[in-house]
Amino acid sequence: MPTANEIRTTFLEYFRHHGHEVVPSSPLVPHNDPTLLFTNAGMVQFKNVFTGVEQRPYKRAVTAQKCVRAGGKHNDLDNVGYTARHHTFFEMLGNFSFGDYFKPLAIELAWNLITKEFGLPKDRLLATVYAEDDEAFDLWRKIAGLDERRIIRIATSDNFWAMGDTGPCGPCSEIFYDHGPEIPGGPPGSADEDGDRFIEIWNLVFMQYEQVDKETRIPLPKPSIDTGMGLERIAAVLQGKHDNYDIDVFEALIGASVALTGTHAVGDKRPSHKVIADHLRASAFLVADGVMPANEGRGYVLRRIMRRGMRHAHLLGAREPLMWRMVPVLLDQMGHAYPELIRAEALITEVLKLEETNFRRTLERGLRLLEEETASLPARAPLPGEVAFRLYDTYGFPLDLTQDALRAQGRTVDVAGFNAAMERQREAARAAWKGSGEAAIEPIWFDIREEKGATEFLGYATTRAEAQVT
Ligand code: ATP
Ligand code: MG
Ligand code: MG
Ligand code: MG
Repeated sequence: MPTANEIRTTFLEYFRHHGHEVVPSSPLVPHNDPTLLFTNAGMVQFKNVFTGVEQRPYKRAVTAQKCVRAGGKHNDLDNVGYTARHHTFFEMLGNFSFGDYFKPLAIELAWNLITKEFGLPKDRLLATVYAEDDEAFDLWRKIAGLDERRIIRIATSDNFWAMGDTGPCGPCSEIFYDHGPEIPGGPPGSADEDGDRFIEIWNLVFMQYEQVDKETRIPLPKPSIDTGMGLERIAAVLQGKHDNYDIDVFEALIGASVALTGTHAVGDKRPSHKVIADHLRASAFLVADGVMPANEGRGYVLRRIMRRGMRHAHLLGAREPLMWRMVPVLLDQMGHAYPELIRAEALITEVLKLEETNFRRTLERGLRLLEEETASLPARAPLPGEVAFRLYDTYGFPLDLTQDALRAQGRTVDVAGFNAAMERQREAARAAWKGSGEAAIEPIWFDIREEKGATEFLGYATTRAEAQVT
């Protein structure tokens, strides 16, 4: 049974053998895109190569890319703990062609890797294609010999990728693995596709157009390939597990949280162990890449991840800071592939310990308040926004932590009420303090980016006034 480390190596070596340059993962904080919260896909470091702005000495590349999806367009934070396939931090294995090979070779390389190198049986595999992409449909039939019933046409944006409102775009084709009829869930495109039976393991993006403006889409002279396969998802398949959190890396991490809390990872305790293991990993990698907990921007996303993990540790009965104790286990699993973790060990440990020590001062009191408030509410009635705001403001409970805490009761938060309370407080603060407002820029910037999408980086020559977001 291959370990996750071995699978990563097999992937990189396979594509190296097929003429791809092995390029290291870029950091989680994207250096070439100030508008993106975190690196969330393998293609991020190659954006300018795909658009032709930047040249590289190779036309084919392969990477194992560190990714975080805990905010922005791809936000899987709420999924973690509750699905078999989502993490906040994960590794995306990807091969790339910059105007070199296109659909036929991309499909052939992918198919041969999973069926020949990895030995996956054909009758467990399905492929989706974009509804209009007859070419990809035929290639799956010819190259893979897939039965037509196992090639599913999808008409939604799930199978059409775009870099932004303008720029390269094109159809994609996703490979799914069927974990078997004993697991609930339907095939892609069906009503219950979000179950854990059919898991998307690999996404192949065929960049063949350029979106010039809203109406105009032209063919790219040299189409490109961008793919992404979740290492943890393929590891689950190859290790005979039906849940990413049962693979070797997570077995070790969850083993540590079980030992430290003395509670087994079963029943309603399992999600908490999953969350702790996942969030520990994300926190460690973010700190190693220079993100520090803060009250805004990237640092606030990190703080939210940490605090969410800490509440689950509390839920499992931990009364002392716990997550920092798991750092050696993570290093043992991943330090070899990511030596930045080893270099940052002391910092990661200290930051985790400090955050958890501080948050523990208010965590218990906040949870008590939450309990009292919900006790007087009718079953399933949403928590008033005022209360969620008080938890945020006085007890340091990020909104998503409160939402997560209420999940078990099937209760939501009145988010509009929360935002209104936040706005009232901002107004009051603004009236009381006529400072420069500098501190508020970062979160507002990300809000704008969320609403309007990315803006083009205009270069340092452009003055600030010219570079305004419109
Ligand atoms: P899903 O539909 O399962 O949320 P996705 O379509 O959002 O996945 P892509 O953006 O296509 O994912 O990313 C490429 C690959 O990265 C996926 O096929 C999957 O294997 C992996 N992946 C994506 N998101 C996650 C995640 N949160 N945790 C682990 N692996 C992920
Ligand atoms: Mg997703
Ligand atoms: Mg998907
Ligand atoms: Mg996908």
